[in-house]
Amino acid sequence: MLASDGKIVKNDLSTFQTDLKNLLDRWKYASPMPAENVFPTDILNAFREIGALNALLSHEEGGLNLCRSLEGGFALLTLLRRAGYLNLSLGRCLEGHVNVVRLIELYGTSEQRHEFAQRLRSGILAGIWVTDGVPPVTIKQENRGYRLAGIKGFASGVTQVKLALITAITPQGHSIMVLAPTTEFGRRQSGPGKLMGMQASGTGAYDFTDIVISSDCILGSVGDYLRQPEFSAGAWRGSAVALGGMDRLVDLLRQELLDRERANNPHQLYRLGEALILQKTASMWVQEAVKAAYAAKMKPADVIATVNLARLAVERAALELITLVQRSLGVSAFVRGRAVELVMRDLMTYLRQPAPDEALTEAAAWFVNHDWPKGEL
Ligand SMILES: Cc1cc2nc3c(=O)[nH]c(=O)nc-3n(C[C@H](O)[C@H](O)[C@H](O)COP(=O)(O)OP(=O)(O)OC[C@H]3O[C@@H](n4cnc5c(N)ncnc54)[C@H](O)[C@@H]3O)c2cc1C
Repeated sequence: MLASDGKIVKNDLSTFQTDLKNLLDRWKYASPMPAENVFPTDILNAFREIGALNALLSHEEGGLNLCRSLEGGFALLTLLRRAGYLNLSLGRCLEGHVNVVRLIELYGTSEQRHEFAQRLRSGILAGIWVTDGVPPVTIKQENRGYRLAGIKGFASGVTQVKLALITAITPQGHSIMVLAPTTEFGRRQSGPGKLMGMQASGTGAYDFTDIVISSDCILGSVGDYLRQPEFSAGAWRGSAVALGGMDRLVDLLRQELLDRERANNPHQLYRLGEALILQKTASMWVQEAVKAAYAAKMKPADVIATVNLARLAVERAALELITLVQRSLGVSAFVRGRAVELVMRDLMTYLRQPAPDEALTEAAAWFVNHDWPKGEL
């Protein structure tokens, strides 16, 4: 699939989907339970080897347009879902990487798009670090460039990421996107503290104080990061990763019930049926969200409200699934170091995405006055 220069030469999404399926099959049985605080470099390399990072790029840059077309969006859903299945921390980091690709495609100049594509083809992982630490990141113009100051407080893959898209506040109080290098060891900090789950994501903090950047590193215009509908629509990707974690939990539940010869018990079957309904419900919601996110003609407010509801539907389904798994497996689901226990902790942590109340009530406020988007009924 890859030419010697690293470009994808076979423009074939179905081949890519097959490669993703084979990768999942290979890793889901082969990999022993990873240490919970070690970044899964080997699985990331497996994604690199099938060209998954290059596939994100546009056709012009030798990729498969995963961030641009509905067809590509469904392949991206498979990619993120499978990554989440194998390792939620990896899924989180890949999802951040995809977000950077997407924002550069939307707001970058042609030079920035090309330059970034070249860097991606060298295999680097990018991160999106927008959550501020103390003090928040600011940007100030100087004679020869722009000087940054401040800390990003949630930085996934802080030791893996080589380039971050961050937001910075201008002296006028506006927010602007900046592409900044993140390779200096001494700038890495411990971040929000020891999280209950997702430790393998290496979520730390990074101090940008006194990094000087050129104007080429500024992406888009003031306010682009929060520009709608993209800002809310992009949340479907995090839901796709969480869905992968749900897939894994359902598989672990089925397997353990079979191994312990408890699968024929009617109460267990009842719960398993409920679990399968939750998994399928979440899957259908994510697919709706992908369609909305890539819909050329849907009203922006419909897109935002649909993806917000999808995000909350997946969150609720995942939380209910965790409860069912705990009830079905009993204390064995609470034994440290077992896959089921780790996946539940990772998933519970990963589901904490910003402003869930707002996402739900804003969607409700829209749909109280509007029907579902055309074609839904
Ligand atoms: C493993 C992990 C990795 C992460 N990696 C990154 C990263 O790489 N880059 C990055 O930028 N961020 C990252 N984050 C941070 C993430 O994007 C969110 O900022 C964070 O998870 C928000 O979670 P929260 O539950 O604290 O959200 P909150 O929005 O604080 O929500 C908590 C509760 O408060 C409510 N609430 C929200 N706002 C208000 C308000 N104004 N008044 C009253 N109630 C309110 C919510 O509805 C909810 O009930 C990461 C987080 C995790 C867990």
